[in-house]
Amino acid sequence: MRIEQDIKLDFKDVLIRPKRSTLTSRSEVDISRDYVFPHSGKTYHGIPIIAANMDATGTFEMARALARHELSVALHKHYGEAELSGFFAAPPPGGFSFYSMGITAPDFGKFRRVMEKSGGAIENVCVDVANGYTKAFIRFIHKFRAEFPLLTLMAGNVVTGEMTEELILDGVDIVKVGIGPGSVCTTRKVAGVGYPQLSAIIECADAAHGLRGLICADGGCVSPGDLAKAFGAGADFVMLGGMFAGHDECGSDRVEVDGERKMRFYGMSSREAMNRYAGGVAGYRASEGKEVLLECRGPVENTLREILGGVRSACTYVGAGKLKELSKRTTFVRVTQQLNEVFGAS
Ligand code: 5GP
Repeated sequence: MRIEQDIKLDFKDVLIRPKRSTLTSRSEVDISRDYVFPHSGKTYHGIPIIAANMDATGTFEMARALARHELSVALHKHYGEAELSGFFAAPPPGGFSFYSMGITAPDFGKFRRVMEKSGGAIENVCVDVANGYTKAFIRFIHKFRAEFPLLTLMAGNVVTGEMTEELILDGVDIVKVGIGPGSVCTTRKVAGVGYPQLSAIIECADAAHGLRGLICADGGCVSPGDLAKAFGAGADFVMLGGMFAGHDECGSDRVEVDGERKMRFYGMSSREAMNRYAGGVAGYRASEGKEVLLECRGPVENTLREILGGVRSACTYVGAGKLKELSKRTTFVRVTQQLNEVFGAS
């Protein structure tokens, strides 16, 4: 057993320090980014925020609504082949739509068929597993990359620099970062496993950027300021589940509680999701997600304005005319103490 004494931080542990600025208005801030993906060689332009591949948020309707503002969506894994091929044959212009998949043989088989039926139209893929540290995951990345060298590949999740480096060397363009921070994730409680998200972003971004790779900070953002902190910490993309949940474009069931309409939102490893998609929770495992009931929040457009306004505001406070400059101009101020600082490391 070993204990790491380094301080690791979450979004709530820091604030961004204001800096001198020549900007006079938030409207001067450009929050789009341009990237060249290291393996696919394709270019990206847009606002680098992605709706999570959860069945509530990773919907066709969300993809269309977000694409109008140059945001992207990772579609959830539970659409049928015909619907997916139809969607990818004519994806909404403006945003990037990611096909999401796991690493089993049936997952790969489904992907190949959808790719074929859509006339080879899928350009972006998100390979998503709860634990990106397994050999099976790495083997799958090798196999996928060998068969599809020109697709843009996002994959994860991991939380450490060395695994980020390994994935980028193995052919991943965007490493998805985050284990345990999700709003409906219970992995930290159930398994005791996780990593404070802000530190994970800082460490993984540093590792990725050294190899011209990119990272997507996945999970844990509960307010627009958290996105600003994620970008300030070095995230190239930020993925949102809970902040996009509860909207008209979501695939969630609506329920009535005490005369009020609510929307169900559950983790993709929760009992609710496994009951719906896998015939229940297998006997050898525990669910690692929970369900919450959310207020119905109307069209996502309204929330989007808040999110983009918040990120623009953060840029203005530190004098960043472009989102690209935010991380260079970010100095975090720590606002919480850790137990070992209060009581001393033993
Ligand atoms: P949020 O933006 O809601 O904080 O986090 C969204 C992320 O939580 C997703 O993109 C995914 O990585 C993660 N997630 C979604 N469902 C589950 C779950 O049931 N268990 C765990 N451990 N993580 C989940």
